[in-house]
Amino acid sequence: MFIDTARLTVAAGNGGNGAIAFHREKYVANGGPDGGDGGNGGSVIFRVDDHMSTLMDYQYRKKFSAENGGDGAGKKCSGKAGSDLYIKVPRGAVILDSESRAVIHDMSDGKDFTVCKGGSGGWGNQRFATPTRQAPRFAKSGLKGEVREIILELKLLADVGLVGFPNVGKSTLLSIISAARPKIANYHFTTLQPNLGVVRVEDGDSFVVADIPGIIEGAHEGAGLGHDFLRHIDRCRLLIHVVDVSGSEGRDPIEDFETITNELKNYSEGLSGRPQIVAANKCDITEERLDSLREHLNAKGISLMPISAAANRGIRELVYKVSSELKKLPPIEYYEAEYVEKAEVEQTAADVKITADGDLYILEGEWLEKIMTDVNFDDYESRIYFERQLKRSGIFERLERLGIKEGDTVSMYGLEFDYVK
Ligand code: GDP
Ligand code: MG
Repeated sequence: MFIDTARLTVAAGNGGNGAIAFHREKYVANGGPDGGDGGNGGSVIFRVDDHMSTLMDYQYRKKFSAENGGDGAGKKCSGKAGSDLYIKVPRGAVILDSESRAVIHDMSDGKDFTVCKGGSGGWGNQRFATPTRQAPRFAKSGLKGEVREIILELKLLADVGLVGFPNVGKSTLLSIISAARPKIANYHFTTLQPNLGVVRVEDGDSFVVADIPGIIEGAHEGAGLGHDFLRHIDRCRLLIHVVDVSGSEGRDPIEDFETITNELKNYSEGLSGRPQIVAANKCDITEERLDSLREHLNAKGISLMPISAAANRGIRELVYKVSSELKKLPPIEYYEAEYVEKAEVEQTAADVKITADGDLYILEGEWLEKIMTDVNFDDYESRIYFERQLKRSGIFERLERLGIKEGDTVSMYGLEFDYVK
């Protein structure tokens, strides 16, 4: 089975905690603080692997986490940084947000993309030492790594998409214009996975053609399989619509053309409006209906090329026509990122939760976490700013009301201090 979509949970590593430690040495009475920083958590990075052509690898394994950063330790030892995790995907994979399906990133350009950033490691207490506070008894805990639910969708990168009823000769055409060897058989449902072929034109140009399972054979199998495959030609610049002009299966070529056009329209207006060339195939059997089809198409401004894929007739002309049309068309479309971080409900200082446990007061809340991330505790000015924020927030008044006494401990996300009135 051809797997072209997968839903994954990806998590970056958490930052390690900073250490609270003091230098200890014989005969040295009061060693200074020497707690090291926590290591940064590893990030999750997507990387294109051109040897991959499906998302099969992600059918069963769906959870991926990068390594956490190690905690800091005494003697100024920093924690080990967590390793980044690389997730390999075929070129043309598009990363979508699982909820909104907004495009987060298109992997077509072949560049690495960081989808989840690892959390930063917390600072050890040695960082917080100042001339007036020589023995800080606090350190910062590491920040959490990002976690995301995403959908991967494979949208092949082909210049030209082959469309048409089953058995009209799409695979035969691909096999003679390129080195691709798709299954060719005189029965429907032959093409159950997309085939890509590179067509080399004599003047040195080349283009990529995708032969996808026909729309109609998919519809017959139910479950919208045919339409699923259409995503692979979503970004084709040009369509070659192959029609069996001989009517060898008892159908009318004009009706065939209209049926497929309708199917394309049902899938997307964008795709049905794509420039197309009709290849009237199987001309070796009979050309009886060629003129009526040509007239029908001319009225719509669509050009027709008579060919016989089996007898290799009209093929060169078709390849040249496609190549010259492509030169006039814009390059393959890359998907613009459209994902925007959800605007979170703004949490305020009033939402900070205070838990009292004897002489320990624990503060928790998004508002607090956010301002703490912004504060550089190493910098005096920055710490004053933080204190002012806390004062203004009304949290101190709340602590007073709860009966906090001088010397009690206030703890917030690993940062601890003695309460001073
Ligand atoms: P697809 O389903 O559109 O991919 O069609 P295939 O390429 O598998 O071809 C279906 C059948 O039509 C095969 O038996 C081919 O040999 C035959 N066929 C393809 N092109 C031609 C042609 O130009 N003339 C004749 N007579 N038969 C053809
Ligand atoms: Mg086929």
